[in-house]
Amino acid sequence: MTRIPARTMLSASLLLTAGCTPPAVHTAPVRPSSVIVLIADGAGVAHWTLARFAADELAIERMPVAGLMDTRGADHEVTGSAPGASAIATGVRTFMGAISVDMDSVPRETVLEVAHEQGWATGLITTTWLTDATPAAFAAHVSSRRQMADIFQQMIDLPVNVLLGGGSRLLLPLAQAREGLDLRTPAMERYTFVETGADLERVSHSDASMVLGFFAEGEMPLAPERSPNLAEMTSAALRILEKDQDGFFLMVENEGPDTEAHRNSSREIITAEMLGFDAAVGVALDFQERHPETLVLVTADHETGGLHLTHDAHREIVMGYATTSHTAALVPLFAAGPGAERFGGLKGNDEIGRILMGLVRR
Ligand SMILES: [Zn+2]
Repeated sequence: MTRIPARTMLSASLLLTAGCTPPAVHTAPVRPSSVIVLIADGAGVAHWTLARFAADELAIERMPVAGLMDTRGADHEVTGSAPGASAIATGVRTFMGAISVDMDSVPRETVLEVAHEQGWATGLITTTWLTDATPAAFAAHVSSRRQMADIFQQMIDLPVNVLLGGGSRLLLPLAQAREGLDLRTPAMERYTFVETGADLERVSHSDASMVLGFFAEGEMPLAPERSPNLAEMTSAALRILEKDQDGFFLMVENEGPDTEAHRNSSREIITAEMLGFDAAVGVALDFQERHPETLVLVTADHETGGLHLTHDAHREIVMGYATTSHTAALVPLFAAGPGAERFGGLKGNDEIGRILMGLVRR
């Protein structure tokens, strides 16, 4: 028996009841015109559990679709941020340290590049070095994540419209001399440069469409001291990117859950990082409510710490770590907006990347 798509059956039955004139059917758009991907680096189910216990309501609870993601790489089971983010960005699994190149070190097109080519504005936000593995995987192609000068050059050459995060040391004359590269001149020529939250706020309300913000020499401080914080950076970036009538692609990363789980930090510290991230998710969802054609996807590149939540004699949580490294544990994923339902269930990180690519590509 031939299966008839549900939409065809619906319109056929409507046509029958309404006679010859097709009725005006208002259906939600199937494909997003803008995409916001938020990545909590290193955050697994236990990290989210801590956040859930600390807040009356999390922003992620507003997202109708949930799933789990298998984070492994092409030739390894416990992955790192470079191949982890590359799989999401390109739909292709690769080797440890690789930034959006395949097993033969051939560059693979990223979803941000596809968005850029079709005229969408693009943005990358992180709380660590702008050239760190997760943002790098969306806009650069190198066989080692350590090639930070090359990564930055590729980001500003594309160019990515909005770049916000840490790592201003990339622009120091010493780094330029060592790398034999002048990164400062092209960056300053192409971008409105900001170094404080107040500057970013002001510029986001101007007509600037190319903004480079360095808010720390290296990694930005922990969530309670971070300025601007992730939610503020996300708000500002959305104000800048939404001016592009064609649409935009924005990736927002909190490196904190990964860094702090590597350090086996306290429950308070991990919780604060997760709540800071969730606040940025809230900003994205508020935007999505005003602009329903926006897809919001929340996930992680991998789990860090083997975080486990056992109990004491009073049945209160005792938080512990299995490792100071990454684990193979599945990570949670949440989605809202056009195409969100396609991310539900259990999927591989490369499959998530291919679905994302399919929804963005025109
Ligand atoms: Zn890590």
